[in-house]
Amino acid sequence: MRICVFCGSNPGHDPAYRDAATALGALLAREGIGVVYGGASVGLMGVVADAAKAGGGEVIGVIPRALLRREVAHDKLDDLRVVGSMHERKAVMASLSDAFIALPGGVGTLEEIFEVWSWAQLGQHAKPCGLLNVDGFYDSLLTFLEEVVAQGFLKQVHRDILMVASDADSMLRAIRRYQPPPVARWIADDES
Ligand code: AMP
Repeated sequence: MRICVFCGSNPGHDPAYRDAATALGALLAREGIGVVYGGASVGLMGVVADAAKAGGGEVIGVIPRALLRREVAHDKLDDLRVVGSMHERKAVMASLSDAFIALPGGVGTLEEIFEVWSWAQLGQHAKPCGLLNVDGFYDSLLTFLEEVVAQGFLKQVHRDILMVASDADSMLRAIRRYQPPPVARWIADDES
């Protein structure tokens, strides 16, 4: 099994974010679960990869050629796949992975987890997607998502595809229990 971890190319201000990235990388290594991520050595991305490698885990990085220097490609990975574009990066990360977890991060992280979540809503895959809500980092986003449901733009069953946990162990338990919704239908029909 491999899990794709999306997270900030910055470390964030609160040391809790680094601690959570370390805990997640270490847990995945301990459980024999490979890590797929963006291949950088910077920010929380580097922290997750270092922790997984330190725990003896397998880590695969996927990085676009144009970002090799900016994100400082990690040089201690089991496999570093250099791809031609951001789109290719996400496609390769998705195809290598059995589940997706977002730690705190910026627009890159948000875009990545929203993309795989939207693919799940479309029924294009049945892989679990989770937000690791470290110290309430994603609380305001979760409140906004309630509004998206309340305003009729998102069905609750599709909102619930995106699982939320505040620590790595609970996230992994939720991933292992995940059942995709039976009918992935996202456009409102007559009953809704
Ligand atoms: P950020 O959360 O903004 O620090 O970005 C986290 C990671 O997402 C970095 O490796 C970015 O290069 C990556 N990223 C940002 N935008 C995209 C995109 N459109 N497609 C693929 N990766 C992206």
